[in-house]
Order: sequence, then structure tokens, then C-alpha cells
Amino acid sequence: MGTKGKMVVISGPSGAGKSTVCRRVLEDPEVEFSISATTRARRDGEVDGRDYYFLSADEFRQKVEAGAFIEHAHVHGNMYGTLRAPMDAALKAGRIYLLEIDVQGALQMKGIDIPGLYLFIAPPNFEELRKRLIGRNTETPEVLERRLQKAEDEYRERVRYDHVIVNDNLEDCIAEVRRLIGSGVEG
Ligand code: ADP
Ligand code: 5GP
Repeated sequence: MGTKGKMVVISGPSGAGKSTVCRRVLEDPEVEFSISATTRARRDGEVDGRDYYFLSADEFRQKVEAGAFIEHAHVHGNMYGTLRAPMDAALKAGRIYLLEIDVQGALQMKGIDIPGLYLFIAPPNFEELRKRLIGRNTETPEVLERRLQKAEDEYRERVRYDHVIVNDNLEDCIAEVRRLIGSGVEG
């Protein structure tokens, strides 16, 4: 594994604002996004190879067997995994490599001592989390309830991260994440 770059893991409950924060942090050209593989269906507006690599369950399994993932997890009924090769290349090239992955995946990486900065994005409270998920309007009511139930377990794991950033005011949260990862982009 490369050692020149910096690996940053961002996780937290669904709806906390991870994708919104990551999109803004990625305005810095020094920061590169880890494009995960998933078996989840593509949402409107998502692009294969930009947001995710959308794979069938068989294709995903083949990659697991080939050792292509540094971590993978079953999240909300679908498989998600972080590809090893692009991460190694980005770190060797000295880049800030940003992973937006779920809590299980982050703790797997910590468990095998993958060095990096582990950030937990927390909602200000669970009522606000529900409002944000409803407002995003991307889940069926059943999936939304599943995500909210899981959020409580995930929230308990925040103590295992290097930093917990509460995403109440979005701009404050983004500024704090940029400061922690050492991104050159201000404001
Ligand atoms: P995640 O990636 O953690 O699932 P998203 O980034 O998709 O969460 O955010 C969930 C919803 O909440 C989106 O509709 C987003 O626009 C909104 N949102 C994100 N941050 C804030 C914030 N600080 N205040 C209000 N709404 C927010
Ligand atoms: P979504 O379906 O909303 O895009 O993502 C659902 C959850 O899966 C989010 O918590 C997201 O961070 C997580 N996730 C995305 N990619 C990966 C990955 O490669 N590995 C793991 N473990 N979780 C991921």
C-alpha cells in the first residue's frame, strides 16, 4: 500500500449529510473520491463509474472472490465494497483519498489497521435525521424506517472514530471537515 497520501473515511447514519459534505470537499482537486461498487439500483441522476460502479450480485461476488475489495459490507439490503487497486494508486500518488462508507465498513478497516483519518458525520438529532431522509425522497417508507433503525446502532459507534462532526449548519460542518483533512480549499 502507498504511504505518501492520506486516506480519509467518512461515515455516519444514512441522511446525516455525508454525500452533501463529500461533494463539497471534492471541489479541492487534491481530493479524490473512492468510487465504491454496489449491487443497489441506480438512482435518478447517478452515473455508473462516477457515483458507484453498479454491479449485479454475481459480478460483485466474483470481485469478492478475486480479493478486489479492501472492505465490503451488506448495507440496507445491498452489497457495497471499496476497491483496493484505485486506493493504492491514489495513495502512492500522494493524494487525499476520500471514502464514504458505512460504519461496518469503516470499523472493518480500522480492525485491520488501515491507517487514515476516521470521521463520523452525526445528525443534530434523530428527528432531524428523519426529516432529511423524508426530504431527500429517495427511499420507500419501508427502507427509510430500516435506515432510521440502523442509525441508532451506528450512532453508538461514533466513539470509535477520530472525530465526530455534527452536521447542523452545513457550511460549518464542511469547514470543519476541510480543516481536519487539511484540504487547501477554504470557505
Ligand atoms: P447521506 O449521504 O449521509 O445519506 P445526504 O448528503 O444525502 O446524506 O443528505 C440527506 C438530505 O439532507 C439531503 O436532502 C441533503 O440535502 C440534506 N442535508 C444535508 N445536510 C444538511 C444540513 N446541514 N441541514 C439541512 N439539510 C441537510
Ligand atoms: P446509498 O445507498 O445511500 O448510496 O449508501 C448507503 C450506505 O452505504 C451509506 O452509508 C454509504 O456510506 C454506504 N457505502 C457506500 N459505499 C460503500 C462501501 O464501499 N463500503 C461500505 N461498507 N459502505 C458503503
